[in-house]
Amino acid sequence: MEKFDVIVIGAGFAGLRALHTLRGLGKRVLVLEANPDVGGVWYKNGYPGARCDVESFDYSYRFSPELEQEWRWTERYATQPEILRYMRHVVERFDLRRHIRFDTRMTRAAYSEMQASWHVEGSAGEQWQSQFLLLCVGQLSTTKQPQFPGQEKFEGEILHSGDWPQRKVEYSGKRVGIIGTGSSGMQMTPVIAAHAAHLTVFQRTANYSVPAANAPVTDEEDSRVKADYRTRRRQAADSPSGLGFVPNRKSALEVTPEEREATYEAAWNRLGFGFALAYYDLLLSKPANDTAAEFIRRKIAAAVHDPVLREKLTPRDFPYGARRPSVDSGYFQAFNRVNVELADVRESPIVEFTAHGIRTTQKHHDLDMVIFATGFDAFTGSLLKPDIIGRDGVSLREKWSAGPVTQLGVAVAGFPNLFIVVGPGSPSLLSNVLVSTEEQLDWLATLVDHMAKHDLGEFEATPESERAWVQHVNERAQETLYLSTPSYYNGNEIPGKPQVFMPYSGGVRGYRRILERCAADGYAGFIFRSSLSAATPV
Ligand code: NAP
Repeated sequence: MEKFDVIVIGAGFAGLRALHTLRGLGKRVLVLEANPDVGGVWYKNGYPGARCDVESFDYSYRFSPELEQEWRWTERYATQPEILRYMRHVVERFDLRRHIRFDTRMTRAAYSEMQASWHVEGSAGEQWQSQFLLLCVGQLSTTKQPQFPGQEKFEGEILHSGDWPQRKVEYSGKRVGIIGTGSSGMQMTPVIAAHAAHLTVFQRTANYSVPAANAPVTDEEDSRVKADYRTRRRQAADSPSGLGFVPNRKSALEVTPEEREATYEAAWNRLGFGFALAYYDLLLSKPANDTAAEFIRRKIAAAVHDPVLREKLTPRDFPYGARRPSVDSGYFQAFNRVNVELADVRESPIVEFTAHGIRTTQKHHDLDMVIFATGFDAFTGSLLKPDIIGRDGVSLREKWSAGPVTQLGVAVAGFPNLFIVVGPGSPSLLSNVLVSTEEQLDWLATLVDHMAKHDLGEFEATPESERAWVQHVNERAQETLYLSTPSYYNGNEIPGKPQVFMPYSGGVRGYRRILERCAADGYAGFIFRSSLSAATPV
């Protein structure tokens, strides 16, 4: 059996950064990647219009100032192909590819207390052993695939935004249906509308969205950012959400209506996802939130000509940002086109798929292609897919049967030397996930180094620290509006999933300070065993 110091699962942004950093510490690292290439979700989400809704300068690695200077982003919000080009460049630039085994899915990992190491199995029966196991499997990588009656009868093509084929998909001149109006559905709608013969958008919940205000990156902007990149990185790391600008410290309720309007207008025209930071309390106070939600509703009203359609497209029954808001490029305007139709499936649910389309309670929609933009089994889907067996034969699935529990969002009691990157209990999807990824991996690197220096073979979260962290995560969530509506933040996207709040809402800066304090206190909440005793049964 091949032996490594670290096995990393996943070659997306987190896995690549983990590989680079841990190899830099002299560790023998193996990365297992189920796809045939690097990229993770950016490999799989090649749907039309896919792009990042965090600015390219901030949705990029901070670990190498040379890389920062060399890479030239072409657009404020990079497209999926450009992000993949960047990731492939990183792989070649830092010579990472030779450590990655592609087309290899981890199916099982079991901790051996005798050997103080993980025994990892691949789908083709391969076996490896390593001291540490890092799960860099993504929070949105297991697709949610609804099953509608009659789906097998449909003679056209059925695709999923999160599992987009690598071949060219031809939708020009076709009658296309998109099911789902989250970020993916909203991004692809205007792009497909421009080429399809007819587009039907099947909407269950109208969603808030703010314009991306995307634009090419000028040479002047590129030089300006690169001249002082460290300040921008520091600002991102010190902000609540990891975005590269300083959020407003005022309450939406302490300013005049005129000032508020001007602030929202400026944020609307520039900030995209950062619109939620126009005032500090938009996600903390319903009255504050109402002012932002009302502003967005007025913008939707101005964008959509047809009054009936306008009303259907307007979100009313949940606060702005309580479910993940979108950042779009012409979503609402697309409904002014004659070839675009909205099917409100809350009003007229889907009854069945037929050979030639979808029948709702209202009518039959003739379709050549159906795209599921129905999202993911978020946060825990990919973590719970393989069998991960900790101490005493307890599986992660059993341990998390009532919902995920972690110490600091990175470790699980009973699962020594297992590290989860941007998983439940961490800022994760409430933040610029790249900032959170690099924060956690920097912290892990220090932990691994600490263990090597002190000849420690095993770290493990204590059950008490885990309980305290879960309680803290829940207390912080109670302060917010996230609990006020069903969403994938709360485990509501998959029937039967435990309904608990998944991410940590205390912000990127606060979270980093907690990690730093934990390390400064000798990794409070963790226990260590020496290399010798870790490998010897007690
Ligand atoms: P999502 O936000 O979970 O949205 C799924 C959509 O599908 C919702 O509108 C949902 O309706 C609908 N849906 C699910 N099951 C359905 C069913 N059986 N019948 C009818 N409608 C159904 O998924 P997503 O749009 O793929 O986005 C997921 C996340 O990925 C985003 O929130 C974001 O974090 C990330 N993302 C990021 C980017 C980016 O950075 N640019 C782009 C795309 C996605 P309900 O709301 O009623 O459940």
